[in-house]
Amino acid sequence: MPFGHEMPPAVTARLQRMKAREVVLSVRGLCKVFDGPDGGTVALQDISFDTHRREFLCVVGPSGCGKSTLVRTLAGLEDSSAGEILVEGSRVSGPGSDRGMVFQNYTLFPWLTVKRNVMFGVEMGGQPRHAAERTALQWLGLIGLERFAESYPHQLSGGMKQRVAIARALAAQPRVLLMDKPFSALDSQTRARMQAYLLEVWRKVPITIVFITHDLDEAVLLADRILVLKPGPGRMQELLEVPLTRPRGADIVESAGFRRTRRHLHALIHSGAGMAPEDDVPLPNIPLLGMADDPVE
Ligand code: ADP
Repeated sequence: MPFGHEMPPAVTARLQRMKAREVVLSVRGLCKVFDGPDGGTVALQDISFDTHRREFLCVVGPSGCGKSTLVRTLAGLEDSSAGEILVEGSRVSGPGSDRGMVFQNYTLFPWLTVKRNVMFGVEMGGQPRHAAERTALQWLGLIGLERFAESYPHQLSGGMKQRVAIARALAAQPRVLLMDKPFSALDSQTRARMQAYLLEVWRKVPITIVFITHDLDEAVLLADRILVLKPGPGRMQELLEVPLTRPRGADIVESAGFRRTRRHLHALIHSGAGMAPEDDVPLPNIPLLGMADDPVE
């Protein structure tokens, strides 16, 4: 039986409404080959999908399946080798303010205050300087960091830096927000808070999000749909719909729908077909280096 046969009617209805909205990001037959000896590396092969206005799409897959290459190509930071990427019908041919980007590593300008970092985003969105400060302060209010307007990034925690990075990206009023493993450098408690926080921001600023993660729980918690990639070469394995209602609180992880989706993803990714060749190599026996008298257990 195909996955999703137990979709609650409210979720089916919400997904139908989502798919009736216009397509914001369209990816058609996308391929990416990195040059190198022996024909190079085919990082992406024939990737095609549409993302609708206000959709939250997560992309998962084992290491090396092309997740980062995909998001970097969508951002215009890498050229595609074949196929096309369209944002609201216009072909992407490089970075542009129609796509905002939040990376795993903190990318705030360290020499600018928090307010000026967000003002940079506002000005990217086309607002003149004199209005940018007011708008930046509104964004800081939305993310609950007005008090830190005059602080510098090094004075903030990792989670706060990512909140500012999200505000800066959204302040430029992109059509799509691209997020490349944005919470993976955070400890698990901060990550959980940031996931809840992102869902809350997304409720207030309904934007299309493409979110790359290797954390299956994170994907199920956040996404409307999940694109599963498989490696060697990186290609589409499945595009599945998450059978969970919104809003989603932390307790959703206990629900049958969450656990079923999580199990399905795990099975896809850890089936032989979904594994990168290097994941197949057995671990060697690692000798205890002089610690035999002091075992960890
Ligand atoms: P993931 O993010 O899923 O771990 P990547 O997109 O980083 O996967 O990598 C996909 C494939 O492309 C891998 O085989 C990787 O070695 C290769 N690759 C990624 N970036 C480059 C690059 N700049 N030059 C050559 N090969 C690359």
